[in-house]
Amino acid sequence: MSDAPTQLLINGELRDAAAGATFATFDPARGAELARVAQAGADDVDAAVTAARSAFDGAWAKTSPAKRARALNRLAQLLDEQTDALAELESRNSGKPKWQCVAEIKVAVATLELFAGTAQHLYGRSHVVNPSVVAYTLREPIGVVGAIIPWNYPLMMAAWKVAPALATGNTLILKPASATPLTAIRLGELALEAGIPPGVLNIVPGPGTEVGEAMASHPGIDKIAFTGETATGRRIAEVAAKSLKRVSLELGGKSPNIVFADADIDAAVIGSLWAIYYSAGQSCEARSRLLVQDEVYEAFASAFAEKAKALKVGDPLADDTKVGSLISRKHADKVRGLVQAGLDEGGVLLAGGDLDLEGDLDSDAFVAPTLIGGVSNESRIAQEEVFGPVVTLTRFSDEAEAVRFANGVRYGLAATVWTADGARGHRVAQRIRSGAVGINTPFIAFPGVPFGGFKESGYGREQSLEALDLYTETKAVLQGTSAKPINPFGV
Ligand code: NAD
Repeated sequence: MSDAPTQLLINGELRDAAAGATFATFDPARGAELARVAQAGADDVDAAVTAARSAFDGAWAKTSPAKRARALNRLAQLLDEQTDALAELESRNSGKPKWQCVAEIKVAVATLELFAGTAQHLYGRSHVVNPSVVAYTLREPIGVVGAIIPWNYPLMMAAWKVAPALATGNTLILKPASATPLTAIRLGELALEAGIPPGVLNIVPGPGTEVGEAMASHPGIDKIAFTGETATGRRIAEVAAKSLKRVSLELGGKSPNIVFADADIDAAVIGSLWAIYYSAGQSCEARSRLLVQDEVYEAFASAFAEKAKALKVGDPLADDTKVGSLISRKHADKVRGLVQAGLDEGGVLLAGGDLDLEGDLDSDAFVAPTLIGGVSNESRIAQEEVFGPVVTLTRFSDEAEAVRFANGVRYGLAATVWTADGARGHRVAQRIRSGAVGINTPFIAFPGVPFGGFKESGYGREQSLEALDLYTETKAVLQGTSAKPINPFGV
């Protein structure tokens, strides 16, 4: 069992749920209960809204941008100092290799620092409308924000919401995923330690269908920032529409990885392994469709399969583990079902299958790095988000076909293009309908670079100056400058 805090955090106090309910959260790699966590209900969301509203109107409104920046930088420093303990907790609760959790906490730290730097640069514009009116704009916080996040990058996703929301002067109610609530509660505690006033950041773990919906429909919440599945995002947008809340949505993906025959094949293989098997494929931007040009298809497939089979799968806490467990046995079953569907549709298993794990690990929660060859772009396995360590291989003959396949899904989050032809890399990048395209690199997300989706991958851009638009309203202030009193009615 873990000794991490397990209660709700409302108005600066750790407390039990009003109804006294709790739920279990697990160490999925071992199939063991890790902690019992207070389970918020609608009453607790009400209490969190009251606390967040009073902090928004009170202590946080009185905090200067410079002090907001200082508090966010202090929070970044505390996270940085506690990286090891936080990474261990995150790894145990998610099944993700600990070294990956360390890397993601570094991103969380950088994200807090990035937005701390924007707090004092929330500029409006000014202009002379005509000789008798001057106007300027103010960027004001939206108010009380509800953030609902998934389990695949728990602390990093929390930072992606907390940093821009608080830098711009909003207060926040954060609902972590039930599978991974522990580091979010700890983040709330550290925020208090960093000098962020009580009520500014409230944490309410609980089921999405109850707590998440209560947030999306709550009249006291002004905006929902959501990351998760496309179907959930659609539901949240519908519920939030009743009160015309602002909504930003970071949703699912089915991103392509295009390998042209002129590419550096060794680099493309290594980069493509990372692009799918990092976080056991449980990444929204996972490049889960390999599109490979005819001439190099066989050579690429065999080099990739050989390296995929060599990736060490196992204990998330071991330094040499490359692929940990999935978030749960249930999710691993779903992934295995989709792999079977891909094989039933005529795909060929080039890597993957049974695993032989050592120690006390629950092998049913793990899925071996899987490569399915001979897949048509229209098949179910090439169209549905698998959210596991599974990649398909599809042939293409020329650039036009590569672009058509790349765009031939309902998602549009990310893509990678591997080619030695610089002009082609940029040409293809312009034609792909997605929020980010890497040319000869698998890395498409960095603090400072806009991140978000086209099409059913959502709307809004995080991690960048664009994110400030997601958390502010623009107010126009107009001043009459005429020397004579105005009399538009001529009365
Ligand atoms: P999910 O949609 O099941 O859950 C996400 C969050 O929404 C959780 O906190 C959950 O409790 C809550 N929720 C569930 N039903 C709800 C409802 N009806 N109303 C309000 N809230 C509700 O997603 P998940 O399984 O936790 O995460 C995986 C998904 O997230 C994948 O589709 C992945 O692509 C996506 N994702 C997207 C990004 C991105 O930036 N685009 C990043 C990470 C993950």
